[in-house]
Amino acid sequence: MVKNIDAKTALKWLIEGNNDYIEAKINHHGDISKEKRLHLHHHGQNPFALIITCSDSRVIPENIFMKGIGDIFVIRLAGNVVGDFALGSIEYGVEHLGIRLVMVLGHTSCGAIHASLEGSHDSYIGEITKEIKKAIFDTNDPIKATKLNIYNSVEKIKNSPLIKKDLENITIVSALYHTHSGKVEII
Ligand SMILES: [Zn+2]
Repeated sequence: MVKNIDAKTALKWLIEGNNDYIEAKINHHGDISKEKRLHLHHHGQNPFALIITCSDSRVIPENIFMKGIGDIFVIRLAGNVVGDFALGSIEYGVEHLGIRLVMVLGHTSCGAIHASLEGSHDSYIGEITKEIKKAIFDTNDPIKATKLNIYNSVEKIKNSPLIKKDLENITIVSALYHTHSGKVEII
């Protein structure tokens, strides 16, 4: 993998992998070989894309895009919310690893979205639903709410001062994963 893959190529690689995943005609072709593992151990990581997505066990970026070890830098939090720790990870991926494509990947049937639509919560779960509620306003429609929540995460990333000053070199993409069809829709 060459250094600093441009955003257009990175997105193309993701979409190609997702098309193979949807069809499920071929086995997972992400490289998880011992050779790749050892190579990356000795030479360090050089992922070509950064993905922020949900912790939901059905939403596995490495599978959805058929990618292997060292290909994508992934941040997973319930509801793909973006707070300070997530932003720190994103800044690291962009500034230190030179990633040019950042994708916020929400998904259908998201428990965090449904919980936010249903009401308020105590405990730390409430921290997540509070953040989502701010993004979805008075929306009742789960898909609309999911999209608004994705856009909110994108805005938060764009507002990181470190990323803001480098925005011309970074592409931030909003995407929705359909848990039924397996398709990633760019929204
Ligand atoms: Zn979810």
